[in-house]
Amino acid sequence: MITKITEYSPKSDNILKVENLKTYFPVKGGFLKQTIGYVKAVDGISFEIKRGETLGLVGESGCGKSTAARTILKLVKPTAGSILFEDNEITDISGSKLRNIRKNMQMVFQDPYATLNPMQMVGDIIAEPIYNYMKKSNAKLKEEVIDLLEKVGLPADAYYKYPHKFSGGQRQRIGIARALALKPKLIIADEPVSALDVSVQSQVLNLLKDLQKEFELTFLFIAHDLSVVKHMSDRIGVMYLGNMVEMGDRNSLYANPLHPYTKALISAIPSTDPRQKKERIILKGDVPSPINPPSGCPFHPRCPVARPECSKIKPLLKEVKPTHRVACHLY
Ligand code: SF4
Repeated sequence: MITKITEYSPKSDNILKVENLKTYFPVKGGFLKQTIGYVKAVDGISFEIKRGETLGLVGESGCGKSTAARTILKLVKPTAGSILFEDNEITDISGSKLRNIRKNMQMVFQDPYATLNPMQMVGDIIAEPIYNYMKKSNAKLKEEVIDLLEKVGLPADAYYKYPHKFSGGQRQRIGIARALALKPKLIIADEPVSALDVSVQSQVLNLLKDLQKEFELTFLFIAHDLSVVKHMSDRIGVMYLGNMVEMGDRNSLYANPLHPYTKALISAIPSTDPRQKKERIILKGDVPSPINPPSGCPFHPRCPVARPECSKIKPLLKEVKPTHRVACHLY
């Protein structure tokens, strides 16, 4: 049977704390391929995730959500800032320390098929991380893998099949079983249902919720679909052009969005009540290039209520009430 890891005594409620995190990618050019600029994919974000909660990250594609996730998992090197996992600084760790941390932080990817080896049986795919980290006997390993398959709603005989035998939803279940194999504490789910048929999305989302309760998991849940994020999250952070522009608890953010960008995103969610008329806010222009982001507030070229100071001074993420923060000069 799967057991939970309980050896850590927390000093704080936070499982993860990120401060002023920046991830820049160099842009090379010219005859000598010198660095001529930087793509500022993540440009100084700060947030924390409490043990057992789900923090949703939303924003249009290219806003830096996935780069932030990969930086936290140390798949990408941060340019600046700090990442604390269970009160320990992990920003610059490598080698065996990083390997130990990776055990506790796992990722569920958007496209499960691209991350499942088509030449490996499903049982071996799920067993691989357990074998690499724990070197268990074959019998024990198989028992754990079959237990994991059942936990994610797949039959035991899936063990002997190859990924191409499964539907998209089932393949995502395999990806989830693999992410659970090392009994992680934090799961970063990067658009986990956006590649799936709408008919199976809610099944996979509900599975994630059930597993969260059963294994006392904490989630960083990344998606561009605000309805999905609302269904899953306790708190939500809204990203725009590498910046966190608003962060609040789910009810406060959806009922009373403060940032003009969040207001536009929420206005685009279709109403489930046909009697309720919603006015959609259409933003002008496209998201600017992160190579040359606008001065001041990164949203000012598209903001319908921008003021003169917005192009000069970058607003900080400020608390407007205990559960709600926004980066906008209007507050
Ligand atoms: Fe709009 Fe200015 Fe607020 Fe930015 S700071 S969102 S430009 S009002």
